[in-house]
Amino acid sequence: MARALLTHESRRQRMVSEQLCQRDIVDPHVLAAFGMVAREQFVPGELAPHAYDDAPLPIGSGQTISQPYVVAVTVQALQLRGHERVLEIGTGSGYAAAILGSLAREVETVERIEELAGAAAGRLGRLGFTNVHVHHGDGSLGWPPGAPYEAIAVAAGAPRPPRSLLDQLAVGGRLVLPHGDVDHQRLVRITRRSAEQFDEEDLGEVRFVPLLGEQGWPEQR
Ligand code: SAH
Repeated sequence: MARALLTHESRRQRMVSEQLCQRDIVDPHVLAAFGMVAREQFVPGELAPHAYDDAPLPIGSGQTISQPYVVAVTVQALQLRGHERVLEIGTGSGYAAAILGSLAREVETVERIEELAGAAAGRLGRLGFTNVHVHHGDGSLGWPPGAPYEAIAVAAGAPRPPRSLLDQLAVGGRLVLPHGDVDHQRLVRITRRSAEQFDEEDLGEVRFVPLLGEQGWPEQR
């Protein structure tokens, strides 16, 4: 009953305060972006009433839209100020790409499942995210035409940080990705200090779908 009486807008504001502010999301730009992007537009119609649940949700093709908090931790760790060129691997629904698009100058996002890439591109276009560009391909190889990037976010778990992504990171840039085994990963932030020096910080344990591809897990699993 209570669920039906709340508008998407009020559920979104409650999500921001209860799931983000009351945890450790403090960047006001990040909080504002989550307060603006209509997550119900990125989930299948029948799941719209659950769009602001504190959980990942199925989006078809065996994939999920990540839990809002996990997207927020990733985006906050990228420390975006508005001028950046950003690469995202694993477009999925396009929700995280929309959040990144509202915080940075340009976003290139790569998805390996063609139907998801097409649906996300259509949705982002309709919602007016003209600075977000969706590509269909193997994102474990990054997206070389747009490199170097000041920030890279990976939304699928890799066995180890792909060399291609490290190479496409600008000096001073941040790469946030989950890596580890298939069932459990550590979310880390890798900062490129110089051509050859990379620092890694731990952001906590997470569970993502696998990054499948040349520099991820083998495709036939
Ligand atoms: N950021 C998404 C969550 C996506 S889930 C959102 O906001 O909805 C992770 C996505 O990564 C899945 O859609 C999966 O198909 C994709 N993926 C897995 N391996 C990939 C690869 N090598 N290149 C690009 N996308 C990949």
